[in-house]
Amino acid sequence: MKYTIAIDGYSACGKSTLAKAMAKRLGYRFIDTGAMYRMITLYFLREKIDITDECAVAGALNGLRVDFVPGSNEALLNEENVETEIRGRAVSEMVSPVATISAVRRWIVPQQREMGKEGGIVMDGRDIGTVVFPDADLKIFVTASMEVRTERRLQEMKDKGIPATREQVAENLVTRDHIDSTREDSPLRQAEDAIVLDNSHLSLEEFIEAGMVLVRG
Ligand code: C5P
Repeated sequence: MKYTIAIDGYSACGKSTLAKAMAKRLGYRFIDTGAMYRMITLYFLREKIDITDECAVAGALNGLRVDFVPGSNEALLNEENVETEIRGRAVSEMVSPVATISAVRRWIVPQQREMGKEGGIVMDGRDIGTVVFPDADLKIFVTASMEVRTERRLQEMKDKGIPATREQVAENLVTRDHIDSTREDSPLRQAEDAIVLDNSHLSLEEFIEAGMVLVRG
């Protein structure tokens, strides 16, 4: 039996790290849905799309293909590897407003469902357990303290050579948390049947093991 595993939580709380590691151990596909919203945002920025203009948004979505490099899971926008660019500040500042647009969510959610229709998938995001796969076999809601989240995101950006200060990173996380949890369409919520994993005080290995214990039931 191949399970569908949904992992949700706030920005930079460790969701993708957990999802990627669990997928590797299980031999499942890993999908970072945040990267999909980031690719759409990068495309809108490049094409200078006015996101308040419904026709412009609909037209832009028509010219767009978001996917991942098989194996490495790096972001592919219209066949171009944009993994580094989607993690930069310009996209991080624009992605949550873009993700509030219902037309964007109506376009991307069916593609996410299609990717997971045969099971054997670990998908992370904000609405996976509530909207994309409400019948997932396992739902995990990841949390961590704001300090830990800020430090981690700052380190990730440093590792990728993306310039940012601690204040900028913290401010972006607070703003995105607010937009993501108060938007009208598919707000970030903990699914009722999700299991909470707080990794503020766990090592990476302990965190992954805590997730694997849930799979083993
Ligand atoms: O996971 P990540 O921080 O890369 O996600 C970027 C943004 O994409 C989030 O802040 C949120 O606005 C949006 N998002 C979403 N639904 C998802 C995944 C991400 O709205 N399932």
